Amino acid sequence: MSLMEQILALHSVDVQVRALRGRLDSAKHYLKTQETHMRDLQAQRDEVELQRKHTQAQIANLEMEANGVGVQIQKMRDELNNSGNTKQYSAILTGLKSLELQKDNFEQQALAQMEKVEQLVARIAQFDVKLGERTTLHDKATTELHDRTKETSERLGELDRERALAASHVPAPSMTIFDEVANMHDGEAVSTVMTVDARSREYACTACNVEIPYQLYSRLLGDGTSLIQCLSCKRILYLEMAELEAASKRKPAAKSV
Ligand SMILES: [Zn+2]
Repeated sequence: MSLMEQILALHSVDVQVRALRGRLDSAKHYLKTQETHMRDLQAQRDEVELQRKHTQAQIANLEMEANGVGVQIQKMRDELNNSGNTKQYSAILTGLKSLELQKDNFEQQALAQMEKVEQLVARIAQFDVKLGERTTLHDKATTELHDRTKETSERLGELDRERALAASHVPAPSMTIFDEVANMHDGEAVSTVMTVDARSREYACTACNVEIPYQLYSRLLGDGTSLIQCLSCKRILYLEMAELEAASKRKPAAKSV
């Protein structure tokens, strides 16, 4: 096998490994996204729940205060009924009015806080609906990842072994180039070269359409001991059989010119 044939053999298994791993990675990524959404929602819900608890505690305090004042009011009313003279009566009455205002104030504040609690409870309910929807999506994503892992793990193991075998035939420097370019182009490490115009020796990389100089093209027709890369996209270049045949037919004619 020539170096390029080894590279093409490696490439054909490499793209399969990448495709399969890509499917697994996208399922993992989807699950992670769902987990992040759920965590965010839960954190927001916890925050609102904390506010609800604080507000509930404030209501309890306000009600306690109002009850305390209520007891004082009751006491004063008794005193009022038993008051001996007009002066004492009017003093108690003034105190009583002030206390009633205080009690009313506490009750109003408690009422306002109760409305706030109602709003917070409604928001918590909204979060629960959203969390329910997210849980469904999260469960689906978990199943999807589990199924994909199950269906691909065996095949992926085989392909990894095939890839390692194909890679073992490729010399280290060429392997480095292959890995670099494959990573650069999501596995599209190789590209064919097409003849744009044989007479004027115009050739192009079929992946990026950039012109391939004739010097490079003629090296592709050579012994194939080193890899030739596109000057623009860096993909490893090769000639398809039809192109090779066409080129070999053109060669003698080119020499005679
Ligand atoms: Zn190119």
